[in-house]
Amino acid sequence: MAKFGMLIDASRCTGCGACQIACQMQHQLPPHLQFNRLEFRERGKYPNVRQEIVPVQCMHCDNPPCLHVCPTHATYKRSDGLVLVDHRKCIGCKYCMTACPYDVRTLNDDRVPEKCKFCADTVVQGEEPPCASTCMCGVRTFGDLDDPNSEISKKMAKVDVYQLITEKGTKPRIYYVKK
Ligand code: SF4
Ligand code: SF4
Repeated sequence: MAKFGMLIDASRCTGCGACQIACQMQHQLPPHLQFNRLEFRERGKYPNVRQEIVPVQCMHCDNPPCLHVCPTHATYKRSDGLVLVDHRKCIGCKYCMTACPYDVRTLNDDRVPEKCKFCADTVVQGEEPPCASTCMCGVRTFGDLDDPNSEISKKMAKVDVYQLITEKGTKPRIYYVKK
């Protein structure tokens, strides 16, 4: 069984937003809903200041607080590690939105707190999620973390990585290239 994850090289991101549009098209989202966002952060001190653009989306945590607080098990973890939402079981309590330290849940028009699904149906066919395949700058690499021959494993073997908000014990499946 694959263990899906993603490597993000934020230093390559130009902020064009193509990944966001590709995601909206894939999931037929209205313009006001997004499953991934770009955070514009300042790094350094004057006069040596630079801007860093950090793409953020559901981390498909291995210890997901959103799942632990869900009273109806609408949020669940698939055997390949993808954290998904069963709309039929969701009662709209929004506990998951409060519990997620990454603030990546967004209420859809049916009042279900939705989020990135790592394109669950696409990736089992061996394709990359559109946020990764659309990016002209090669910011995202998606794949099987358990396969030493996957592109993501080969890239991760060559770089130092970090993850976001690890102090919460979420064990995210998204890694960022350390610069
Ligand atoms: S498509 Fe790539 S370069 Fe453009 S905003 Fe998204 S991650 Fe950044
Ligand atoms: S990033 Fe948030 S929504 Fe995604 S699995 Fe982790 S806690 Fe849940």
